[in-house]
Amino acid sequence: MFGARWNSDFTEVVHDFTETLEGLAAFRGSKYLQSRVGGAFRKAREFLRAGREVMFTGTPCQIAGLRRALRADFPNLLAVDIACHSAPSPKVWRAFFAALREREKLGAVADVRFRKKVFDAKLGAWNCAMLSVEDASGGEFLAPLYATPFGKGFGSGLFSRPSCHECPAKDRTSGSDLTLGDFWGAEKYFPDLKTGEGLSVVVCGTARGRAAFEAAKSGFGVLREATWAQAVPANGGLKNETLRHPKRAEFFAAFARAGTPGEAACLVAKFTRTPFPRRVRAFAFRCARFILARTGTLALAKKLLRGGTRE
Ligand SMILES: Cc1cc2nc3c(=O)[nH]c(=O)nc-3n(C[C@H](O)[C@H](O)[C@H](O)COP(=O)(O)OP(=O)(O)OC[C@H]3O[C@@H](n4cnc5c(N)ncnc54)[C@H](O)[C@@H]3O)c2cc1C
Repeated sequence: MFGARWNSDFTEVVHDFTETLEGLAAFRGSKYLQSRVGGAFRKAREFLRAGREVMFTGTPCQIAGLRRALRADFPNLLAVDIACHSAPSPKVWRAFFAALREREKLGAVADVRFRKKVFDAKLGAWNCAMLSVEDASGGEFLAPLYATPFGKGFGSGLFSRPSCHECPAKDRTSGSDLTLGDFWGAEKYFPDLKTGEGLSVVVCGTARGRAAFEAAKSGFGVLREATWAQAVPANGGLKNETLRHPKRAEFFAAFARAGTPGEAACLVAKFTRTPFPRRVRAFAFRCARFILARTGTLALAKKLLRGGTRE
C-alpha cells in the first residue's frame, strides 16, 4: 500500500509504501500539506507489472497523475483518493511549525496530528480537528486547528498550491476507485446517527472500488447508503469548487521577503486574523453554546435549528 507519511522531522510529507499492517499507521491521519510523490509512481508500476496487488492513496491530482504515469489499466491496482479542497504549501507549514516549536519550547518532535479527537468536557462534545504537536519528553501543544493561523490559512486557501485553483481532478474525475472524505451535513439525512465524533463518506467510483468496499464493509460500525447529491453540497473537497483567496498573491510576495521563520509565521497570523465584528460574533456564539451545553439543551437547540433550516 502507498500513502503519505511525515518525514523524520515533520517538516515534509512524502509518499511511501508499506507491505505490513503495522506500516499502515504512518499513513493514517490527514497531513494538511502537499506531499512529495518522489519515486512512488515508478515503484507502484514496478509492483503492478510484477502482478502484485497495489493500493495507492493520495489527493485527486495525485491519483490522476498516477493513472497517466501508468498509461495502462492494471486490474491489480486499487486507486483511492481523498476529498481535497486544496493542498497547502509545505514551505508555509515549515515556517509555522518552526515558529510554533520555538514559542512553545518543544524538543524533538515525536508526532504531529491535524485531526486529533478530543472530548471537551465543558461543552460535552467532541472536537475532531485539534492540532497536536507532541515532543519526545511528553510535552504537547494542543489547539483547535481552525483557530490557529495555519488552520485558518488552510481552510481559506490562503497558501494553497496554485494548481489547486484550476484543479481538474475533483468531482469524480481523478479516475479513483474509491474516494474518502468527511460527510458534513449527514445529520440532515440521517438524524438517528451520532455525528459528534465525525462521520466519513466513502464514494465507490468504479466496480473495482465497489467490490473492495463490499469486502471491507463488515468492519464498519455504522453504515448507511447515501447518494452523491447528499454528500456533496457541504463538501468543497468533493465538488468542482475553487478556493481562491483574494490575498494569496499579496501574502506570498510578503512571505518571500520574510527573513526568519518567526517573521514568516507572523505574516500567516496577520493575513488570517479574523476581523473584529466576526470575532465578536464568534464569541457570542461560543457563549450561547456553552450556556446551552451547561443547561443540557444543546441537542434540543441543534434539532430545532436543523428543523428550521429545512423548512
Ligand atoms: C490537503 C487535504 C485537504 C483535504 N480536504 C478535504 C475536504 O475538503 N473535504 C473532506 O471531506 N476531506 C478533506 N480531506 C481529507 C480528510 O481530511 C480525510 O483524509 C478523509 O476524510 C479520510 O479520512 P480517514 O480518517 O478515513 O483517513 P486518513 O487516515 O485521514 O487517511 C486517508 C489517506 O489519506 C492519505 N493522505 C493523508 N495526507 C495526505 C496528503 N497530504 N497528501 C496525499 N495523501 C494524504 C494517507 O496516505 C491515507 O492513506 C483533505 C485531506 C488533505 C490531506
